[in-house]
Amino acid sequence: MVAGALFKSVKSSLSLVQCAKTSISRVRTFTSVLNDQQHEIQELAKQFSDEHLKPNAKKLDLEGRFPFDQIKRLTDMGFMGMAVDEEYGGRGLDYLSVAVAVEELSRGCASTGMIMSLHNFLYTNLVNEKGTPQQKEIFLCDFTRGAIGCFALSEPDAGSDVASIKTTATFDGDHVILNGKKSWVSSAIEGSALIVFATVDPALRHKGLACFLVPMDAEGVFRGKKQPLMSVRAVTACDVTFEEVRIPKSYMVGQVGEGFKIAMGQLDQARIGIAAHAVGIAQAALDTAIGYAKEREAFGKKLTRLSSVQDRLTEMSIMTETARLLTYRAATQVSTKNSSMAKYVAGKNATAVADHCVQILGGRGLATTHNAERHYRDARGTQIYGGVTDIQKRLVGHYLLKEHDAL
Ligand SMILES: Cc1cc2nc3c(=O)[nH]c(=O)nc-3n(C[C@H](O)[C@H](O)[C@H](O)COP(=O)(O)OP(=O)(O)OC[C@H]3O[C@@H](n4cnc5c(N)ncnc54)[C@H](O)[C@@H]3O)c2cc1C
Repeated sequence: MVAGALFKSVKSSLSLVQCAKTSISRVRTFTSVLNDQQHEIQELAKQFSDEHLKPNAKKLDLEGRFPFDQIKRLTDMGFMGMAVDEEYGGRGLDYLSVAVAVEELSRGCASTGMIMSLHNFLYTNLVNEKGTPQQKEIFLCDFTRGAIGCFALSEPDAGSDVASIKTTATFDGDHVILNGKKSWVSSAIEGSALIVFATVDPALRHKGLACFLVPMDAEGVFRGKKQPLMSVRAVTACDVTFEEVRIPKSYMVGQVGEGFKIAMGQLDQARIGIAAHAVGIAQAALDTAIGYAKEREAFGKKLTRLSSVQDRLTEMSIMTETARLLTYRAATQVSTKNSSMAKYVAGKNATAVADHCVQILGGRGLATTHNAERHYRDARGTQIYGGVTDIQKRLVGHYLLKEHDAL
């Protein structure tokens, strides 16, 4: 209720009445599954995306520049920590609300949508759901008010194969000492804290993992250089090295041996976010293609009158809506199978939709002065980060057979 009121007050300040006239529901047929509050959040994110993200996305991408101003505004509007309990500065909203916001933001700027998605689904949700009251005071309150959180699981030699993590955690009285190297840590350059997964004994594989909260300014934490990217180029992903980093034992989330389960559970959530992000990119590509096809003429008629273009647009629409439906389901019925299925379909479909978009724009599809090539590059990334497509397929297959007692 309070959350609704908060969003309502922002909504009126942004003159959302005008936005309603653009009518999302007219073009997105099944949004009726959203309740009033979720609709409100969708409208708010849509308006913000159209006004503040879409006009800046190309520049941010070309310059590979972190969207500080946009993230600050999203923080002020309550989008950074949406599902966090209100006593810690959040809005106490459900995952579907976060997912529809991620979709709309990613439609305007894939990089900004991803930064917001990871902060919510990978950082604040984990601390909110698994942290102790003391951990929440230190690692959550500020993170609904502007501080950015990171999730450091991947390593140079451990990506999909999480149990191969080599970063070590050594207990020393009331403290833990971390040593090792993480890779691809999104927002690490701007971030103020990290969720770090480390092992007490690499030979134990997944049974040796534990999860820790680490302030970015702790002695011995070193950030590498921003990795130049093909996709989501305004996202700053880099290595983070831990050299004798000493943190209180009370910064451990859960127990030793629970790290693998915590990481996998959080990835189930992250995949809802990346699926929503992929749907947003697909929608942007579809919008770009339709906008262009309505104006461009070939052989004496608009492209929209050519059956091959109509076919492409139809396929794009079917693929986008299929992915959206699966994402909504994953956000409301959270399970590994549903999240992996949504991410699998949304990532592949976004890539295919963006490919059609490039084709419909012809030569302009390849030009950096148009948006199609950016959608194409952004869409491709959604099949990699948050867990590669190949792994999602394996997970869906595993749970399918398990449900049928066929493993
Ligand atoms: C922009 C970006 C941001 C990222 N942000 C973060 C972050 O914030 N935090 C974080 O921890 N990580 C992050 N990552 C890392 C990302 O999650 C990993 O890149 C991803 O999980 C894949 O791991 P990998 O790159 O080591 O590929 P690998 O695991 O080496 O896989 C390479 C390929 O091998 C094949 N493969 C591997 N294992 C299997 C299998 N079991 N079955 C079938 N095929 C398989 C697949 O084709 C796969 O694509 C980010 C990555 C990028 C690019």
